[in-house]
Amino acid sequence: MRNAGGGTIVIVGAGLGGLRTAERLRRLGHAGPITLVGDEPHRPYDRPPLSKGLLTQPEDPAEAAPLRTAPYADLGIDLRLGVRAAALDIAGRRLVLDGGGELRYRKLVIATGLRPRMIGALAAGRAGVHTLRSFEDLLSLRAGLRGARRVTVVGGGVLGCEIAASARTRGAEVTLVETLEQPMLGALGAQVGELVAGLHRDRGVRVLTSTRIRGLDVLDGVKRVVLEDGSALPSDLVVAAVGAVPNTQWLEGSGLELADGVVCDRMGRTSAEDVWAVGDVARMPHPYGAGTVRLEHWTSTADGAALVARNLLAAHGEAQEATEVPYFWSDQYEVKIQCLGLPSADDTLTVAAGAPASHRFLGLYSREGRVTGAVAMNMPAAVARTRAAIASRTTLDELLDQAPWDRDRARTRP
Ligand SMILES: Cc1cc2nc3c(=O)[nH]c(=O)nc-3n(C[C@H](O)[C@H](O)[C@H](O)COP(=O)(O)OP(=O)(O)OC[C@H]3O[C@@H](n4cnc5c(N)ncnc54)[C@H](O)[C@@H]3O)c2cc1C
Repeated sequence: MRNAGGGTIVIVGAGLGGLRTAERLRRLGHAGPITLVGDEPHRPYDRPPLSKGLLTQPEDPAEAAPLRTAPYADLGIDLRLGVRAAALDIAGRRLVLDGGGELRYRKLVIATGLRPRMIGALAAGRAGVHTLRSFEDLLSLRAGLRGARRVTVVGGGVLGCEIAASARTRGAEVTLVETLEQPMLGALGAQVGELVAGLHRDRGVRVLTSTRIRGLDVLDGVKRVVLEDGSALPSDLVVAAVGAVPNTQWLEGSGLELADGVVCDRMGRTSAEDVWAVGDVARMPHPYGAGTVRLEHWTSTADGAALVARNLLAAHGEAQEATEVPYFWSDQYEVKIQCLGLPSADDTLTVAAGAPASHRFLGLYSREGRVTGAVAMNMPAAVARTRAAIASRTTLDELLDQAPWDRDRARTRP
């Protein structure tokens, strides 16, 4: 059995990153005590269904989609739910809990994720503005949607687009407002953003791009989202999907390096000895380029948990760096959008297979002739076959020549 040098491993945040770290530690043979602390009352649950199936299904769900279906007893951890971490004492290796109490740790993993951001223009009408991160947010949004005819979604990122699609699927009249020239532009660039806009418009969503919100007011009991040109969108329900901020308030004053997230190296180590970070809250060096990134993706969080668990148990000098290719998916209507790599919005997009207009295609992003990522609509097998080329930063010409997504061609190649 391996263990982390005696003492308790404390994991803060009982979401995907926290749970998967605990599970991986056990799978790697760590037999010592593990405590998993989470401020939500629920056992770890899956967030992607909140904006998709759980939002569109006819009946209110009784519970969120569990991340673990095997018995918790098999995991042998001390699971503390409804407990919020309030502060971290690095020198004393103590986690201070809200409402008193503390936990001593030998090693600590930070996995506290994000909370929705609220923009100033909507903050005044905050009471009636929905956000979506938790199961409670989902239930509140579902209740609001029940009587709502006109729905305005502010923010055309991945989450805003999914909420717009789900609200439209439920039959609402939906307006999607985005400040940039296209929805999902930051993640996928203008060309794919235009396809996403078209997908929504085809389904009857009013997509307003290059449009800023000035404020929110209530007239005769009806909310009005006021745009910068002075026009207004009467709305029975308003959802803000304008990004999220890392849950690091409890780390303020701890001395840990924070910069829109917990700053880590490529191994998941923070600036403090024996303190690690995983998931949406972790800011790591860019896997290919300059600077740092926080990946707010499900698969990257699971990959990060596996990495940190392994490194926590590794002998001195044997910790490994992250090597997994970033990946996210999004489901909107009947279209599955998938993106591998970390393309920039201004990378060149080359269609490699399928037809974008029919929402079934594979596109390759490149910069200076080298592949930076791939995007697909409804071609899951094809995009998966580009993973190795993205990891090794193959040239675009080489990848187009190899065409690994084209089984027939791959088979006949000498
Ligand atoms: C609605 C929605 C849909 C999504 N859909 C997709 C998708 O289709 N594809 C995709 O790739 N990704 C998707 N994601 C992103 C994905 O779910 C996240 O990347 C993933 O949940 C990150 O896991 P995490 O453990 O870092 O954070 P979380 O899952 O947020 O878990 C963090 C936990 O820590 C708790 N916590 C915070 N502060 C404290 C504290 N001080 N003390 C104790 N506990 C604390 C939080 O309450 C939370 O329970 C979606 C996210 C959302 C919200």
